[in-house]
Amino acid sequence: MELKNNQYYIDNIKLRDLCKQYGTPLYVYDGNKIETQFNKLVKAFEGVPFKVKYACKANTNINILKLLKNLGCGQDAVSINDVKIGLRVGFQSQEIMYTPNMVGMDEIHEAVKLGVHINIDSISILKQFGEYYGNKVPVCIRINPHILAGGNYKISTGHINSKFGISIARINEVHDIIASTGLKVEGLHFHNGSDIQDADAFIQGLDIMLGEALSFTDSYYKHLEYIDFGGGFKVAYRDEDKAVDIEEIGRKTVEKFQSFCKEFGRQLTLCCEPGKFIVSEAGILLGTTEVVKQTGNTVFAGINTGLNHLIRPMMYDAYHKIINISNPGGDAQTYTVVGNICETDTFGKDRQLAEVREGDILGILNAGAYGFSMSSQYNSRFRPAEALVYKSKAHLIRKREVFEDLLRNQVEVEL
Ligand code: PLP
Repeated sequence: MELKNNQYYIDNIKLRDLCKQYGTPLYVYDGNKIETQFNKLVKAFEGVPFKVKYACKANTNINILKLLKNLGCGQDAVSINDVKIGLRVGFQSQEIMYTPNMVGMDEIHEAVKLGVHINIDSISILKQFGEYYGNKVPVCIRINPHILAGGNYKISTGHINSKFGISIARINEVHDIIASTGLKVEGLHFHNGSDIQDADAFIQGLDIMLGEALSFTDSYYKHLEYIDFGGGFKVAYRDEDKAVDIEEIGRKTVEKFQSFCKEFGRQLTLCCEPGKFIVSEAGILLGTTEVVKQTGNTVFAGINTGLNHLIRPMMYDAYHKIINISNPGGDAQTYTVVGNICETDTFGKDRQLAEVREGDILGILNAGAYGFSMSSQYNSRFRPAEALVYKSKAHLIRKREVFEDLLRNQVEVEL
């Protein structure tokens, strides 16, 4: 995004024009930024066979997926419908990794039929999978390495008390299942969580996976093809935030992985599955200021969106920078920016913003990940529209909902 002559642009397209054309609230994504982030990742891990699988839970718009597929990215899917969306977009089934949590065998059978990679994260499902498929369907195993990392406990997934993965302390049970069922293990996987800045959290997890693979090269991991070290690369939400140093992680992991492969005796592929790193900074949520009002010492700027469209501030106390798109040159004043939902839905407390007038468009930055995909119709409000700016062209990629959408699937009965 660029500020020129008091106007904000993405790729020479004025954000205010997009608001006029598509209305607000509106998510706008910068396709070039998505491309840049993807390329940065690929470059950082040059030197080993490397595959990025975009964690589509961050943003499942099919056009974002299509853009990434065209760049050569794979897909990480968390549910069977994520898988179906990927296939609908045109991903080959072998480009999709299915990493569910707490799902039963019915959904897993469906995923096997669709031909995607299966990642299993519990002892009981691994056992059932092995007993059913034996060595017929290869499997990846998600290990919980007992590493606490990430920006918020709710999004930390690799620690000892997390519901995700098979505890590394139970690895002997994994061995027994592989031995007794003949399971063909094609991958080892961990994902420590989201918002991780520290390279060591990735390296520590990788050390555990590589150590495990090396200890049992000729027994349990004869068929191993890849090691997946998850996603969770931190982006900078505040000006002063330190984002992950992806080059550092790349350097360290590539070096480690190269010497591991030598010792292992075969070249494997290194995989990662970021969501936020790829799409977060590419997205902005635009809302119109409907009301400016002062209560006590607080001046509220109330915009026509809310926690129903971007829940991260209320759910994770996440900080998102906010800017006045309509009046960037106005005198700075202090505002608490809130939404229109009937409970506290503060986007930013006591923020310095260029003077906000009723009618001004405010932009909430870093909203491309876990924004729309976590949105709801709470308070009977429509989910917003989405637009993509790519190669200097703007596209509406999701229409705003309409009244019928609120009633869809409700069944009115005679009472
Ligand atoms: N992989 C798995 C298994 C996840 O659960 C998640 C996020 O929840 C991700 C990847 C992506 O995380 P992030 O968007 O922080 O990169």
